[in-house]
Amino acid sequence: MLTQKSIERLSKMGSKTHYVTSLYLNVDPSRNHGGYKIELKDLLKDRRQALDSMKSAQTITRDQALSLEKDFARIEDFVQHEYVNSTHSKGLVIFACSATQFWEMIELPQPVTSHLNADYDPYVRTLSELLCEHRHYAVVLVDSAKAKILDVNLGVVKEHMSLSDEVSSKVKYGGIDGSQERNINRAHEEMVQKHLRRVSGETQSLFEQNEIMWLILGGRQKILTQFEGQLPQTLRKRVIGHIVVEPDASLPEILIKADQVAQQAESKYEQDLINRLRGESHAAGGRGIFGLQPTLQSLRRGGVNTLVVAKGFKAPGFVCHKCFFIGTPEEKGNQDTCPICAGKAHPVDDVIEEAITFAFMQGCRVENTAENSRLKIMGNVGALLRF
Ligand SMILES: [Zn+2]
Repeated sequence: MLTQKSIERLSKMGSKTHYVTSLYLNVDPSRNHGGYKIELKDLLKDRRQALDSMKSAQTITRDQALSLEKDFARIEDFVQHEYVNSTHSKGLVIFACSATQFWEMIELPQPVTSHLNADYDPYVRTLSELLCEHRHYAVVLVDSAKAKILDVNLGVVKEHMSLSDEVSSKVKYGGIDGSQERNINRAHEEMVQKHLRRVSGETQSLFEQNEIMWLILGGRQKILTQFEGQLPQTLRKRVIGHIVVEPDASLPEILIKADQVAQQAESKYEQDLINRLRGESHAAGGRGIFGLQPTLQSLRRGGVNTLVVAKGFKAPGFVCHKCFFIGTPEEKGNQDTCPICAGKAHPVDDVIEEAITFAFMQGCRVENTAENSRLKIMGNVGALLRF
């Protein structure tokens, strides 16, 4: 399962001495069935050509080149002969480094832009963006005796649990003895409460076992209010909306509504985040910073708590493979060297990608936001700081 934690783990699989090959392949069956094999051939052809020029320019060691050649061959063999493209898989991701015996394959339910990359770190930016674009949330559909818990991860719905409890019915019309009627109704209420507590407990354990961000409640308004009222505080904070539906509402209807609630919550979440970043950055002693250079500086100091980046924003920069310095072109030392260790400053097209990997390596949270004019003014990148 793709989570912040799993990306964090991947970000640490880089090597100081060898390149890691990262492949993203769009295998969406609705696009062009099997076309991805041809696409991979083209990607590999380009990469092999690039490798040949590096070999002739002697900018790569024999050992490094050999490891890359093995990665390419293994990936090619796997995709052409072993990989079976199932209907629910739209994106295939492979990380490989033969020299360190690292191999990891991830199938995604969302399509990705195909590309093949070789760097000292695995390319995790796309995974991080997907995670923010499709937040993991749960939907609890509840009535007075039944409940269903849905787990929506990367846009894919899975029924986590369906449960029903014995709940005696209410007395609707008064009999001769009013106290007996009250007793029956009290017993009914108690059973409903017990049922709701059970649903709440099941929801809580789902949240404890997964990195789930939000909770949406669905059902008739009266029971939703009652259910939300007895949720523990930690879960109540996660509720982003109610879907008022009859118990027999169809699943597609519920999911369309849930998706709308999640999208609204996402845009509010991003706006709040950027407002907070702006507020913290402007306040004296505030824990916020924006702009590329200050953000990279804070990252290098280990002071970042949450890295905030506009999705798709790229900026050129350089990295030092010796001491892992990442910086903007202006920060380079004399004659293209690292300002810290005087090692070679390797230019990169996208220093943001390096910053994202570096942030994950440090255990920071990474937030990729949709285009936002306020963040754009702030240089499309910023960070909430630890101290
Ligand atoms: Zn250095």
